[in-house]
Formats: sequence, structure tokens, C-alpha cells
Amino acid sequence: MTIFEEVKELVNVGAAARHYGAEVHRGNMALCPFHKERTPSCKLYEDHYYCFGCQAHGDVIRLVQELFGLKPIEAVKQLNSDFALGLDVDCTNKFVPPPDMEAVARRRREIAERKAEKARVEHMYDVLLRYFTLLDKYKMCYAPKSPDDETDRRFVYALQNIGYAEYMLEAWGSFDKDQQEEIKPEVDRIEREYKRILDEWGE
Ligand SMILES: [Zn+2]
Repeated sequence: MTIFEEVKELVNVGAAARHYGAEVHRGNMALCPFHKERTPSCKLYEDHYYCFGCQAHGDVIRLVQELFGLKPIEAVKQLNSDFALGLDVDCTNKFVPPPDMEAVARRRREIAERKAEKARVEHMYDVLLRYFTLLDKYKMCYAPKSPDDETDRRFVYALQNIGYAEYMLEAWGSFDKDQQEEIKPEVDRIEREYKRILDEWGE
């Protein structure tokens, strides 16, 4: 059996016509998709259609060809895809959409969002870590060596802020997503502060 015969056997004309939007009335009479009309004059049979208005006629493959302007093999592929027939036709034809483009797009969006979310969270942790590390360095490097030394501003700043920086860094590990979201403004503030002191005092 050829692929054409198989498709014709598996998809009846009425089902295909309905699937592609034909309005089917009593007695399997449809509004003809090939000419303008108010009363249905296209009769849908099991295996073919015939329009008493414009004499359009053919089998299911012909129907799909006419509807979408396709070559016979393209119509076969279209039906194979739309009715999930699972027939082995190669699907290189561009007209056949991959299965459920919306789902594919949705999935891609989800992945992109998750990546962005992950990057954002990593960046926030990075800010806290860099801030703490810088203060720790100030504390070590600019501590007075003798009682007569003038106190370095960086050392004072470090003493004043390192406790908080350490607390934030530690707390971060136990935060859930919502809490991370909540303290985002505070992390932003710390980031600006980090940049400020780095600009002013260096490492
Ligand atoms: Zn017609």
C-alpha cells in the first residue's frame, strides 16, 4: 500500500474537513470552502467530496491540497502530522509545523527565565561575598600597628560593617526564593556601597 492509500484509509474526508474548519450541516453537507455560498452544497462522503455548486471534488489528499495550496506529498505530510498518523514520511517539508510550537516556545521561555533567575541569584550572592571579602581585607590590612598610629578610615569602616556583611552572607544560604526576592533591594544597596568604597579606597 502506498503512503497515499494509507492516508486515505486512515483519515476520512468529513473528519479532515471539520478539522480544517469546514462548517458541516445535516446530511454531511458543508459550506463549500472553494466557492462563496450561504447554503451548503458540498457533500462529504467517507472517501471523497463533491460540490454541487462548483463541482470541486476529490479525495482527502486533494481536499488538503486545495485548501492549503500544497503538492500531493505535502498534503500527505500535513495530514500525517495533524492527525498524528505516525506514518513514515520524511518531514523536511517546511509547511508541516513541528509538534505543538506553542509548547516548544513555552518550554524555551521557562528555560530562559530559570537561567535568568539563577544568574540573578548568583549575582546577589557574589555581591555579598565580595563585600564581605573586601571588608575582611580592610580589617586585616589597615589595622593600626601601634597605639600611636592614626586610625585608618578603612579599618574603622570594616569594623563597623563586617558583622552585618558576615551575617548577610551566612543568612543568604538559608533564604528561600521569596526571602531572596525580599532582600533584593538591600543587596542592591550593598552593591552600590561596595562600588562606592572600592572607587574611593580601592582594594
Ligand atoms: Zn463549491
